[in-house]
Amino acid sequence: MLTGIIFDIKEFAVFDGPGIRTTVFFKGCPLRCRWCHNPEGLSPGPQLMVSLGSCIHCGACLAICPSPAACIHCGACVSHCPRRLRRIVGEEYTAKVLSGRLLRDSPYLKANGGGYTLSGGEPAFQGDFLLELLGCLRGNHRAVETSGYCPGELFTAILGETELLLLDLKSVDPDIHERYTGLDNRIILENLERLKSSGGDHIIRIPVIPGVNDSPEHYHAAAELLKDDGGLIRVELLAYHKTAGAKYGMLGMKYQPGFDIEKKPNMDTDVFLSKGIPCVVL
Ligand code: SF4
Ligand code: SF4
Repeated sequence: MLTGIIFDIKEFAVFDGPGIRTTVFFKGCPLRCRWCHNPEGLSPGPQLMVSLGSCIHCGACLAICPSPAACIHCGACVSHCPRRLRRIVGEEYTAKVLSGRLLRDSPYLKANGGGYTLSGGEPAFQGDFLLELLGCLRGNHRAVETSGYCPGELFTAILGETELLLLDLKSVDPDIHERYTGLDNRIILENLERLKSSGGDHIIRIPVIPGVNDSPEHYHAAAELLKDDGGLIRVELLAYHKTAGAKYGMLGMKYQPGFDIEKKPNMDTDVFLSKGIPCVVL
């Protein structure tokens, strides 16, 4: 049976589409954005996450561990930690079970002009599961937040099952995109064209990273790309925060941003507004 791995479900979300929403975070992403603040969404499988700040070094986790040399994310240590510092992120669901849980709040979300947003990680990384879940949520307002890095056929199928698409556009420059995310943006720009010609409602989100995509040239290139886009509701600029690296150590990962995290990003809404594109800072 088809299953998906979810690392978080956030209720009462108000920034992921209209009204009050429930946002579901899918695990797994093909990109490796240097500023990613959800590193637990990168790997597709369940992972051990440890907050070592208040560890009392009792050794209980080590004593129970079947693989001390290299964690296999089995979760055996989780219930043995007296300080509750250990947890497994990533839970497996069928679309039926997950939608059953989500739909309990459907009347409340509808009454508040909201719905469901499927985010990540990259939800399209679990494409078949995403489509099945979207199908189960029909009749509600459904949004998908994606980097747009997925096969065109899948992207078109997602468009057919959503009321709103949130596309995260990191850089319009292929070299900069590759340097800071690990992959070039050709597939993303092709899907952006599909999105524009679909006429469906969409929001473009730009994570603004100091020294990466906050130059006047980049803003102008992005605004040029998005002018005359009929379905575009607005551009949302999201400022980089240096707290983004907080969770890497908890996953045994190193945070290596490769840009100046102390610098404030240059937030420029005017370049979009001057071309008639609504633009806000979130
Ligand atoms: S999850 Fe815990 S018990 Fe399992 S391998 Fe990793 S450290 Fe050991
Ligand atoms: S069981 Fe918890 S408190 Fe004890 S050593 Fe492991 S992480 Fe620290």
